[in-house]
Amino acid sequence: MKNLFKFWENKLFRQVSYFLLIILIILFLGRLGHKFYNIEQFFEAYELKTYDLRLNMAGKEKQVNPNIIIVSIDNVSLEVLQEELGRWPWSRDVYAKIINYLNKNDAAILNFDLKFVGAQKGFENKDNELANAIKKYDNAYVSMDFDNISDEDIRTNNAPDLPDILKANLENHSKSINFENSNFNYCNLILESLIKNTKNIGIINFMRDDDGVSRRSPTFFKYKDNYYPYMPLKLASDYIAKNEKIKIDKYVINEKNQLIFGNKIIQLDDQGFMIINWNDIENKFINVPFWKIYKSMENEKKGLPPVQPLEKGDFKNKIIFIGATATSLYDIKTTPVNRVYPGVEIQATVFNNIMKNNFIKRMGSTVNLGICILLGILIAITVIKINEPFISTLISIGILASYIIFASIMLNQYNLWFDILPQFIFVILTFTFMFIVKYLLKSKDFEYTYRLATTDGLTNLYNHRYFQEHLAKCMEKANKNNTRFAVILIDIDFFKKFNDTYGHQAGDEVLRQVGQTLRKAVKSNDLVARYGGEEMVIVVDKVHTEAAMKVANRICKRVADKKFELSDGVSVNVTISLGVSTYPIDGKTSTELIEFADQGLYRAKHNGRNQVGSLPEIKIITAE
Ligand code: GH3
Ligand code: MG
Ligand code: MG
Repeated sequence: MKNLFKFWENKLFRQVSYFLLIILIILFLGRLGHKFYNIEQFFEAYELKTYDLRLNMAGKEKQVNPNIIIVSIDNVSLEVLQEELGRWPWSRDVYAKIINYLNKNDAAILNFDLKFVGAQKGFENKDNELANAIKKYDNAYVSMDFDNISDEDIRTNNAPDLPDILKANLENHSKSINFENSNFNYCNLILESLIKNTKNIGIINFMRDDDGVSRRSPTFFKYKDNYYPYMPLKLASDYIAKNEKIKIDKYVINEKNQLIFGNKIIQLDDQGFMIINWNDIENKFINVPFWKIYKSMENEKKGLPPVQPLEKGDFKNKIIFIGATATSLYDIKTTPVNRVYPGVEIQATVFNNIMKNNFIKRMGSTVNLGICILLGILIAITVIKINEPFISTLISIGILASYIIFASIMLNQYNLWFDILPQFIFVILTFTFMFIVKYLLKSKDFEYTYRLATTDGLTNLYNHRYFQEHLAKCMEKANKNNTRFAVILIDIDFFKKFNDTYGHQAGDEVLRQVGQTLRKAVKSNDLVARYGGEEMVIVVDKVHTEAAMKVANRICKRVADKKFELSDGVSVNVTISLGVSTYPIDGKTSTELIEFADQGLYRAKHNGRNQVGSLPEIKIITAE
């Protein structure tokens, strides 16, 4: 127990303890808060905002793949082609013609971000034209999506089965990824002729975070207990298999949440999504409006060159994403980067990310907590070590700013997402708490020094200096309130002899015990001090002479009656002599007061000790 107190005297030990206590309090508050409010969700919402901000702040110089071409069915295309193709939606033979044309021009991949749902009545032969083109070229892909239809009937009766050939062979060893979020109930079937004739169907369901912003991309969708790949993933694995001549017959998600297929190892987040690495605004994909391709195709038939600025050979080995971007057709996708992406461009971005394997990796909670504690320690040391509050605040802000800069650089240069918000809040809390603690420690230190300066080490009574100050204050107060107070001067009898008989140690012990006896004999607002040597003094508040004499006599008797125990078991008797003076009757200054009491003490000694010195005759007469 004593050792623990010794530790507590150590300043560093105390500071470390306070710091640990603060961490505990913060964690406790966090848990408590969690009970009433989903703190994680709250933190996450704001963390996402800081993430978006960081993505937009620094210009990312990401090279987009020059082999990717976006063919956009834009407003102009709808207008220009209205005469030939009629109003949207166009009959599907046009896509068949485009497939044939682009394949004649050696395109590597043709991906339609269009869903060919349901047959167009009266145009069955045109639908078949599309189906035949898709069947003919194994580099042509079409899209499909899943739905979560709440109506029980539709769910039980109409959820169709999908051909085995569309299933992804997925081995999932992850502890956290279970694709529960993408467990869809219903499949928006596309044309039967397509479903039956191609394995090149990818799922294009979209992933939005809680705030509606798309930051992540799906990997697989679970439907009727089977997995189906997200379109860009399917495209990429087929493309890699073809180009690098490797067989990709399965996908594996390992325990580290990495998706492995072919020669790729791609980091997923703990829900199985890929965090999209967006291109810089300046680095757009090559974008060609649909109508230019359509017109070039017409020109080719007539033996004319392609429409400006297209040239022959433009599509050779290109990966072509065809999708609707016309404002009247596409639903707006919000992304963290400053522009609105058409769905088709997001698909191209994810494909590009997979090919370069440069998705963003988000740091886990252990790393983030570790950083919180590290920053907390730095801030705590700063606040404790630096005494100038302005400087320590400045340095703390500097530490926080450095971390934010570090996190921004990591994100923009190394694709690593370190959280900022939890650290930010942690640093501010630590700073505030440490400031308070420092103030508390300081006041404790002050208290300690104050005690050292005002008390006597041996008896624990107030010292001479404090007595003098107190006396001055008492006189001031008495003058103001027109009250009196008394000073009782005490001297131990024959103390020299006592020391000689029992030794100095025993003398010290008796001195201490006499001090305690005096302390207990008077009220708490009376002051007991060691005047010097074996002399002590008591200031008795608000009494006149007679009452003070009574107090002095009581004290004298109490000391005389008390048995003082010495350390070796011997008990001894000690007597004291006392002198009393009363303010303002016996003296108007402290010197006069003490002198008067000293004379009383002298008379007590002279009359045989162990008594209170009598008052001078004159005073007795004048005192009523
Ligand atoms: P009396 O007052 O009754 O006339 O006799 P006395 O022996 O007490 O006389 P005096 O006041 O001259 O001596 C005081 C002695 O008290 C001297 C010193 O040895 C002793 N003394 C003073 N301070 C201390 C102290 O802190 N510890 C101990 N043990 N003795 C002290
Ligand atoms: Mg003395
Ligand atoms: Mg004495």
